[in-house]
Amino acid sequence: MQNVDVAVAGVGVAGAFLLRSLKSKFDVLAVDRREKLGYPVECGEIIPVKEEMKILLPDLDDYSIFDIPKLYESNRTECIRFIAPNGREFVSEFKMHVVNRDRMISEVAEESGHRILNPKKIISFSGEELRLEDGETITAKIFAGCDGANSKVAAGLGLKRLVRVPAKQYLMKNVECDENSIYMYVGKRISPGGYAWIIPKGDGLANVGIGFVSSRAERGDTIRKALKRFVEEHPYSSEYLRKAEIVQEIGAVVPVDLPYQKVVYGNTVLLGDSAGMVISHVGAGIPTSMVAGELAGRIINECLEEDDITKLSEFDRLWKRSMLNPIKNGYLIKTLWDRISETDERLSRYLSIVSERDMWKILHSKIPLKLRLATFFIPVLNRIF
Ligand SMILES: Cc1cc2nc3c(=O)[nH]c(=O)nc-3n(C[C@H](O)[C@H](O)[C@H](O)COP(=O)(O)OP(=O)(O)OC[C@H]3O[C@@H](n4cnc5c(N)ncnc54)[C@H](O)[C@@H]3O)c2cc1C
Repeated sequence: MQNVDVAVAGVGVAGAFLLRSLKSKFDVLAVDRREKLGYPVECGEIIPVKEEMKILLPDLDDYSIFDIPKLYESNRTECIRFIAPNGREFVSEFKMHVVNRDRMISEVAEESGHRILNPKKIISFSGEELRLEDGETITAKIFAGCDGANSKVAAGLGLKRLVRVPAKQYLMKNVECDENSIYMYVGKRISPGGYAWIIPKGDGLANVGIGFVSSRAERGDTIRKALKRFVEEHPYSSEYLRKAEIVQEIGAVVPVDLPYQKVVYGNTVLLGDSAGMVISHVGAGIPTSMVAGELAGRIINECLEEDDITKLSEFDRLWKRSMLNPIKNGYLIKTLWDRISETDERLSRYLSIVSERDMWKILHSKIPLKLRLATFFIPVLNRIF
């Protein structure tokens, strides 16, 4: 058995940024099941640049965490091209880093200087100890659940599973798209209940993937078939992917629920996907997980310095003040989206009343007035559209 000040379950985005924020004088032990931290990359790897983060999460008191070092960047994009089922394209200015996420996670975690135990799988959390696959246990003054969408820590706290959407992604080479743009395609035929994306990493490499909600798909359709269709047949994407070849293939899930109302339970705190801290209409969880790691580290340092674990509950106040509004907006947009996208024809008709400015707001997790009003009239509008 090991007894430490802080036990960090999982070293993905939230875990790495938590480690970075925890002071070196504390005895910290992080555990991750991966042999190489952050690898394989189960992510599109986009992070808005700092100026965009000020719009996306306007209530942070410090944005320096988003000064992403150039060495983690594989590409920088200028805009998002959002393509409706009928081919209408919205072009929204939205500058992004496309990062090498595995490198960022492993270097941020390792540079923290804290101890990391990997590859080692956590099999359960009792509320008092983490139990590892080899029977070893870890007790701690404070536990941090950073173990992602299938969190053992959240399960150990007895929390209800958050709603999650499966996603599948290829890393492809020889992709011939505009490398200054990120492409988002919507429509039931390619991505029921989600969207499909092409995210250029530079030099012809790109992350190409889809989200897929089977209850919203045609009978017999699967995520595998849908991704194949998107790559090979989709009229608006396949011109970029004609010569593309698959380099790597991954599958993972994204939480699309509202976060837990409370993420601190006694001496245990949940961060990132394990808590549902995701802007769900676009499936963005890297920035929110980075912020959560940074803020939780600040609070944990104080708890340990003042020998007062009750102060951990301050994290609930802090993360909500910093991020809950945009997260809730994303959830509302996603819920509305589900109600108007029963068929591709209806979705295209709805999108015909959305302006470029509206789309810019939607992508930045803001709700245009039109959309807010529409929430009350969907049953009537659905009869017209
Ligand atoms: C296909 C896909 C594309 C995405 N694209 C983007 C994007 O472009 N931009 C964006 O902002 N968000 C994106 N997201 C969401 C984003 O990846 C997550 O929200 C973010 O990674 C959450 O960080 P986290 O640290 O909470 O969890 P993770 O980064 O998932 O980290 C969890 C860590 O816990 C470890 N772990 C899990 N279970 C155990 C266990 N039992 N024992 C030991 N270790 C364990 C894992 O190995 C992992 O290292 C995407 C998600 C998917 C699935």
